[in-house]
Amino acid sequence: MIVVLRPNVNETRQQQLVEWFKSMNLGVHISKGEVQTVLGLIGDTSKVDMELVESLDIVESAKRVSETFKCCNRKFHPEDTIVEIGDVKVGSGNFVMIAGPCSVESREQITSVAKSVKASGADMLRGGAFKPRTSPYDFQGLKGEGIELLLAAKEETGLPIVTEIMSAADLPLFEKVDVLQVGARNMQNFDLLKELGTINKPILLKRGLANTLKEMLMSVEYIMASGNERVILCERGIRTYSDYTRNTLDLSAVPMLHELTHLPVIVDPSHATGIARLVPSMSLAAAACGADGLIIEVHNDPLHALCDGAQSLRPEEYDALAKKVYAVREAIK
Ligand code: PEP
Ligand code: MN
Repeated sequence: MIVVLRPNVNETRQQQLVEWFKSMNLGVHISKGEVQTVLGLIGDTSKVDMELVESLDIVESAKRVSETFKCCNRKFHPEDTIVEIGDVKVGSGNFVMIAGPCSVESREQITSVAKSVKASGADMLRGGAFKPRTSPYDFQGLKGEGIELLLAAKEETGLPIVTEIMSAADLPLFEKVDVLQVGARNMQNFDLLKELGTINKPILLKRGLANTLKEMLMSVEYIMASGNERVILCERGIRTYSDYTRNTLDLSAVPMLHELTHLPVIVDPSHATGIARLVPSMSLAAAACGADGLIIEVHNDPLHALCDGAQSLRPEEYDALAKKVYAVREAIK
């Protein structure tokens, strides 16, 4: 249920109302806008007397929310959420460029890519240390050592780092990581999501290979309901019957998610297409349709990459693309 308060209500009266809802065993999410405050009630609201609530003089309106996702629902929180990572802001007009290799392979590789993408204006560095590979015989990532190398690249460039976590048991290794990525294959690993809800770090949640938007939002709910409100969503392509691309980039997910949720939505054109030459056009399309950022795979030597070389841009290709992305952003302002 959503309760919209009248503009500029008295703090004490508002608090009394919140306490009253809490005494009915309801969670209360308070969203304070510039003029009006919205209370989002979470839990079994069937016993709440709507007429009584609406009759209160500090209440402007009350309505039931039919969707099962509450915390991330835009109706609960009409204003865009801005996720902050140090000085980097994502959402509500703040556009983020995240770039780096699929996986961290060596100190030279990650620092060289980090320096190149930084010079092209990237805001954050990506790189997998724990790799969810389809085959158990493929490179599985450098794990803890990979995180150390990412931190060294951060030290040299100042770029915050984004890297994937596959198991809550590895959390101690992620203490200095800026953004924890939950990959497509773990979008519905509910125990992991619940655990990530208890930490104080932003989460980049990627859409599952065959998941609907509603399922994605329910996964966000696992994180947010456990207390962590800093979530960024990522559309990375879904499985369809496309035969020439790795996945199908569902760009309509971007404006639809913006309607449904207040959280930022970014796009990964690399995993969506699987083909480096298609990455620029899909990046521009994503920027044009209102994405809050892009996460792009960049490798200094794609031919010898240990993972996803075919979809990785060379640093000079990333540089040319970034300039066009910024131009599209300007054009749609
Ligand atoms: C990745 O970002 O390297 C990755 C494995 O992505 P996804 O989970 O979207 O496949
Ligand atoms: Mn990859």
